[in-house]
Amino acid sequence: MRAYIPAYRMVSPASLPDALGLLGGEPGFWQPFAGGTDLMVLLEAGKLMHKNYLNIWNLAELRGFEVSDKDVSLGALTTYTEVQAHPILRAEFPMLCQAASETGGLAIQNRGTLGGNIVNASPAADSPPALLAYNAEVELLSVRGSRWVPYETFHLGYKETVMQPDELLARIRLPRPWPDAVHYYRKVGTRKAQAISKICFAATARINEGMIEMIRIALGSIAPVPLRCGKTEEVLQGKRLEDSTIAQALEVLSREIVPIDDIRSTKDYRLKVSLNVLENFLRQLRSA
Ligand SMILES: Cc1cc2nc3c(=O)[nH]c(=O)nc-3n(C[C@H](O)[C@H](O)[C@H](O)COP(=O)(O)OP(=O)(O)OC[C@H]3O[C@@H](n4cnc5c(N)ncnc54)[C@H](O)[C@@H]3O)c2cc1C
Repeated sequence: MRAYIPAYRMVSPASLPDALGLLGGEPGFWQPFAGGTDLMVLLEAGKLMHKNYLNIWNLAELRGFEVSDKDVSLGALTTYTEVQAHPILRAEFPMLCQAASETGGLAIQNRGTLGGNIVNASPAADSPPALLAYNAEVELLSVRGSRWVPYETFHLGYKETVMQPDELLARIRLPRPWPDAVHYYRKVGTRKAQAISKICFAATARINEGMIEMIRIALGSIAPVPLRCGKTEEVLQGKRLEDSTIAQALEVLSREIVPIDDIRSTKDYRLKVSLNVLENFLRQLRSA
């Protein structure tokens, strides 16, 4: 049943300092409201417990792209539509663009934000594996100042993150990848579109003189948090992609992940599909 709307309050601060001041004045009292695509689902279902919202949609400081030789940074309010439209993201971060294009439908892509996807901390979210594989960092802002956190350390447990109640996620920074890296993103759901992931896989690698010079592998929807698969990466790093190396990587991944059983899928299915997708990626990498 839909929530009783007059029970909720929303304020729209005119500037970022005003927003941070409100968050810092009474930590936990105000909750940020960005695109609202996660929050409105809870409202419609009558399950939106928090009552006081801070509308951050109009804060210009949380928008826009900054490009340097070393990295690209995106405001937390960047929508999926904006991600897909950006020429540098399309050229250098194709997995993030693919994740954006496979997130919800057009309405969600126009309104849903990357920052909201990260802070909402759903283990089934589609951008986190790409962000992990791209070694993203996130900027957390509060009246106490700014801190950059490697995205790999952002999630502490199911829906639990390093963020403090007075902090806003301000920007996402992506180191620019090597030009000839291979990128492989795969979302597996019940349908090809408009489905929540059963597993979500993102990997990038670079081959130099037949050897794997760099490899990063991440999986979503298989654990309470999105995972970087460091042990599987380790067994591949510096190796030639012989059949025996691929078999060894599959064996290590099968021990590294302990998939979850939930309403969307079973742990056996998730394990099998994760291994299939890794094998597919490694075979494509070899032929590239
Ligand atoms: C029909 C539908 C389909 C969807 N499909 C997908 C899908 O395929 N894949 C997928 O991953 N997700 C999907 N989603 C979920 C959702 O669209 C995304 O998670 C989206 O990115 C959330 O962003 P938002 O700006 O709307 O967040 P909001 O709903 O505004 O906020 C979500 C949470 O993040 C917090 N928050 C938001 N921004 C900030 C910030 N800058 N700083 C601090 N806290 C912040 C809010 O307080 C809230 O807790 C879908 C949702 C719907 C309704």
